[in-house]
Amino acid sequence: MTQTLIIGAGITGAALAWQLSRRGEAVTIVSTHAEGGLASAASFGWLNASYYLNHPHYHLRHEGLAAHHRLTKQLPDLPTTWQGCLWYEATGEAQDETAADLSALGYQVQRLTKAEVAARLPALGPVPETALFFPEEGVADPALLAKALIAASGATVIRATVQSLTAKGGRVTGVTTDLGSIAADRVILATGTGTPALLESFGYTLPMLKRPGLMIATNALPPICPVVLATPDQEVRQDPKGHLIAPASAGHQGDHAETLGAFPVVVNATLMRLRSLFPGHDIHFAHQAMAMRPVPGDGLPVVGQGPAEGLWLAVMHSGATLAPVVAEHLAAEITGSPESPLLAGFRPTRFQ
Ligand SMILES: Cc1cc2nc3c(=O)[nH]c(=O)nc-3n(C[C@H](O)[C@H](O)[C@H](O)COP(=O)(O)OP(=O)(O)OC[C@H]3O[C@@H](n4cnc5c(N)ncnc54)[C@H](O)[C@@H]3O)c2cc1C
Repeated sequence: MTQTLIIGAGITGAALAWQLSRRGEAVTIVSTHAEGGLASAASFGWLNASYYLNHPHYHLRHEGLAAHHRLTKQLPDLPTTWQGCLWYEATGEAQDETAADLSALGYQVQRLTKAEVAARLPALGPVPETALFFPEEGVADPALLAKALIAASGATVIRATVQSLTAKGGRVTGVTTDLGSIAADRVILATGTGTPALLESFGYTLPMLKRPGLMIATNALPPICPVVLATPDQEVRQDPKGHLIAPASAGHQGDHAETLGAFPVVVNATLMRLRSLFPGHDIHFAHQAMAMRPVPGDGLPVVGQGPAEGLWLAVMHSGATLAPVVAEHLAAEITGSPESPLLAGFRPTRFQ
């Protein structure tokens, strides 16, 4: 039987383990952070296609939403929710343009008046003149999803750090870890920001942007935010236990900052924005999670055959949205299906 190693136990490795197991493949996962990943454990978890860099990226993201629905049918207990997003990151003409662009792509967009926004979000302090509502969008906690998918896949998980890949005659033969060597016929790197270091020995340079992300959780509150809310200076959602979950940067998907700033300053600024969004509520800091977002140099996913036979790559930002669809298509390719046109714009060869 083919020995397949997936390196990484975040949402990407977990989704691949699930898809390969559905195709009858036995999978072993090797990961430093076992079952829940690294970026996956600090994610906002917003599932959307309203943010995109080009049309192939939009289509991949939109298919990503559909793939989440398929996953929920396969595993009905997954905690994915579809509350929609109320969006006014841009206002005025820029908001109209966003609505027109997304509608032209076939995305569902509802235009809301001030009164309609107030009716949907009675707890909101400052109510915008207009907003967009994207009913197809939702939330999945990638770390929880990863744990569920790994359990469902039946994959063996080894908690170890891969120090290097081994190869012979241009074909991958396994990995060397801090606990010893593991032989394999296939190695799939779902290693997020850890990927470039593992590819160096093949002479392959994977450029990655430096994009630190900080996610803040507040104390539990009564239900005040029934949607994903995206305002010009703050994105926020409320989890099932009532905590507000809020990135510390405005518009975190397009965040270009390479540094975070001092934690107390950043956390306080975020809390102040949340308090002004939801006045009259006792909003406090509960805990935070921080990770580097795994953003390849051009912002787009890197998916497909790597620089050796039997070596495959799956590295992406917006992995909460994208990992399930990427895993469906990549698992098919890995097990012998023709190359998927959906992944055509995201191949590793563009950096060679
Ligand atoms: C603050 C923040 C907010 C985000 N918000 C969103 C959002 O709203 N919507 C969205 O779609 N996406 C969002 N993302 C992006 C999304 O969370 C990530 O794209 C996704 O979690 C990446 O998952 P992954 O499994 O590829 O990587 P990770 O979760 O980082 O997992 C990588 C795994 O590889 C392992 N690993 C790495 N190197 C090695 C090695 N040498 N040996 C062994 N194991 C190794 C790690 O231990 C880890 O288990 C956000 C990310 C962050 C950080």
